[in-house]
Amino acid sequence: MDLACPNCRSDNTQKLSLAVEGGTFSSKATTVGVGATGGSAGLMAASTSGSSTSTLAQKHAAPEKWPVISGGIGIIATSWIASLFAGHWVFLSGCVLAAILAVIGWKYNLKDYPRELAEWNAKFLCLRCSEIFTPDRGAEDAFAVKAEATN
Ligand SMILES: [Zn+2]
Repeated sequence: MDLACPNCRSDNTQKLSLAVEGGTFSSKATTVGVGATGGSAGLMAASTSGSSTSTLAQKHAAPEKWPVISGGIGIIATSWIASLFAGHWVFLSGCVLAAILAVIGWKYNLKDYPRELAEWNAKFLCLRCSEIFTPDRGAEDAFAVKAEATN
């Protein structure tokens, strides 16, 4: 029952949400990038491109809700402008597309988004080898108890 990295067994791990939001990536981005020897092509690319900070933070950013309303308005507005040049069918297909995306987005926000957010919140980052992992449920509970005890 520990929060050690399953890849390298280091206990130098941190909650992923804290790492992303707390700026761990900006101060330790180089270490994380160099540590990624064979695990992830994305991390290797990030470390060589020199923009590892934003890339890593973006790669592991929290899941976001679909912008159903603003996205729909954007599509309809764009297709309306386009229809001035190309004809009414562009506006009509824009409305249909906006409606379809609204349904998909609404379903995602209602069903998948809360689950993805919970999964993301449960993830940990290894500060030694940059492995992203989810500790088992027991470890997570033990961590919570320990955190409460220290407070
Ligand atoms: Zn590790």
